[in-house]
Amino acid sequence: MRYDVIVLGAGLAGLSAARDLAAGGADVLVVEARDRVGGRVEQTRLPDGRLVQLGGEVVGRAHTAYLELAGELGLTLVPSYTAEPGVIARATPEGVSTGEPPHWFGPGDGGCHERVTAAFVALAGTVDPADPWSHPRAAGLDRLSVGDWLRAEGASPAVVRLWEIGQLGLASGSYERTSLLSALRKHAAVPGGEAYGYEDWEGLRVAEGSATVALRMADGLGADRIRLDAPVRAVEVSPTAGCTVELADGERLTAGAVVCALPVGPLRRVAVRGVAEERLASLRRQRQAHAAKFVAAYDKPFWREAGCSGLSENEGVLGSTWPQGEGVLSALVPPERFGVLAGMPDELREGELLSEMARLYGPGALDPVAVFLRRWGTDPWTQGYVTQWVPGDVMAVGPRHGTHEPPFYVCGSDQWVAGYMEGAVRTGRAAAKEALRRG
Ligand SMILES: Cc1cc2nc3c(=O)[nH]c(=O)nc-3n(C[C@H](O)[C@H](O)[C@H](O)COP(=O)(O)OP(=O)(O)OC[C@H]3O[C@@H](n4cnc5c(N)ncnc54)[C@H](O)[C@@H]3O)c2cc1C
Repeated sequence: MRYDVIVLGAGLAGLSAARDLAAGGADVLVVEARDRVGGRVEQTRLPDGRLVQLGGEVVGRAHTAYLELAGELGLTLVPSYTAEPGVIARATPEGVSTGEPPHWFGPGDGGCHERVTAAFVALAGTVDPADPWSHPRAAGLDRLSVGDWLRAEGASPAVVRLWEIGQLGLASGSYERTSLLSALRKHAAVPGGEAYGYEDWEGLRVAEGSATVALRMADGLGADRIRLDAPVRAVEVSPTAGCTVELADGERLTAGAVVCALPVGPLRRVAVRGVAEERLASLRRQRQAHAAKFVAAYDKPFWREAGCSGLSENEGVLGSTWPQGEGVLSALVPPERFGVLAGMPDELREGELLSEMARLYGPGALDPVAVFLRRWGTDPWTQGYVTQWVPGDVMAVGPRHGTHEPPFYVCGSDQWVAGYMEGAVRTGRAAAKEALRRG
């Protein structure tokens, strides 16, 4: 049987694309390596009924494609942890502080932080997020790391440290290894007065559970349009003869077009023939930050007793914590600490991670009702967590980023400025629109 379109990968991007293709009248099949849909959105339920998100969780008010889709699916958006009462906590080897300023700030650091933030925001205003390559100083801005730029702007070591601890909290790679152009592009996509506005990027969540977005799309498509346990190993593309998708067991499927919605890591293992060498080089040049997510569920949000919101930025193995729901703390292990996590003896790991939480919020952290550790960085079907742009990568990936070569269409969060669920939905729907337009 020949399909109109085969979609590779049943994450948010692939499902968004397939949903719109099916609505547009295309005969579509989604092939997925895992035994479940959702990819990097995944949820489980505690015995008491609370949902726990093990992957992508929150979105921002500017994430219009995601918000529109959630509305179409009849899902409810509610304020996220950013609306929690209490203050942020920060932990470094020499101390822990709550609220602002952080404990390592001295006289002048607050003003210095405001000054470099304003300079960053102004510079970001000169970058077109859809075409950062057109910036007159694109190559120079891409070569520079955010850390080097901060120092060149006169940022004090304390201010550089504040930016870095925030970036490690996001787990998308140290600012010492992040292209300035990529950071400016990310800000230009969701502008705001801060370098990274928690409210702008993370102020909302789907009340029914973030992974429910994927589950609802899969329900709408129907089981006969989704093949689970079907890893793709090769794709052959021909604008005249159509496309062949070869599965790991040797089965060959044919279609008029292919929408590739695979993360860039697993995509490197798929043999793709019939598209331009430059496109393949661009796709294969992209990379992801390898991170892990740790979740600890408690009877109650005990951190409130200490006046804390549950949001923290840390220099431990955990880069950040935040409350994902009533009594449930999420935490990210950034790529710089991923190796340390791997080196922890199995029987000590949980205790050491909980101790970091206890340092922030008190001994209540040592008594969870359940914990979960999801190592996305070494998961074979993800091999990462979120897009990472090291200095030089924006230019090396080049303007083919997020573009198509019909009948080979590309989508996925990696194909947007900085990853995220918004990137998955936005690029998935755009790929479907383009494929339908071309018939
Ligand atoms: C711990 C964590 C926390 C996050 N937090 C947030 C957040 O709060 N907010 C936010 O916006 N984003 C967050 N993200 C990022 C967000 O979840 C992802 O960017 C988004 O879900 C990716 O969607 P996708 O469809 O592009 O890719 P994926 O979800 O990775 O989907 C790709 C699919 O392709 C499949 N696949 C891979 N290889 C093959 C193959 N060879 N053959 C067939 N199928 C294959 C995979 O199994 C997967 O189902 C987080 C991610 C993680 C891991």
